[in-house]
Amino acid sequence: MAYDPSNIFARILRGEIPCRKVFENAHALAFRDVNPQSPVHILVIPKGEYVSLDDFSATASPDEIVDLIRAVGEVARAQGVAASGYRILANSGADSRQEVPHLHIHIFGGKKLGRMLPKD
Ligand code: AMP
Repeated sequence: MAYDPSNIFARILRGEIPCRKVFENAHALAFRDVNPQSPVHILVIPKGEYVSLDDFSATASPDEIVDLIRAVGEVARAQGVAASGYRILANSGADSRQEVPHLHIHIFGGKKLGRMLPKD
């Protein structure tokens, strides 16, 4: 799938719409999900134009990959869920019901998270 620069996270990265930023490094931005599913629900995104983990894992530079993964760890520690536990999730493609076509890693925490996948 070609990258669509009008997607909502691209607009956040360009500063066209606001976000509740919690962390940023050279290649990644983290902000609160607008519709949180747990007490801690943060999205970590690369600043580069990647639709999903599929193309990011295949084509991102080592620096971009390091910064994205480091950002996840930094955010989890800063949000106080590293010790209690948390879950990361990155929907990729239609079967996963990915809604926004810019790679984003969800960080969920702050409560017992239940089953890894719903039954349906
Ligand atoms: P996914 O289904 O994995 O593509 O998740 C997309 C996520 O983006 C959902 O959890 C939405 O609540 C979240 N979201 C959509 N628009 C915004 C926004 N403007 N700021 C923060 N989170 C958003």
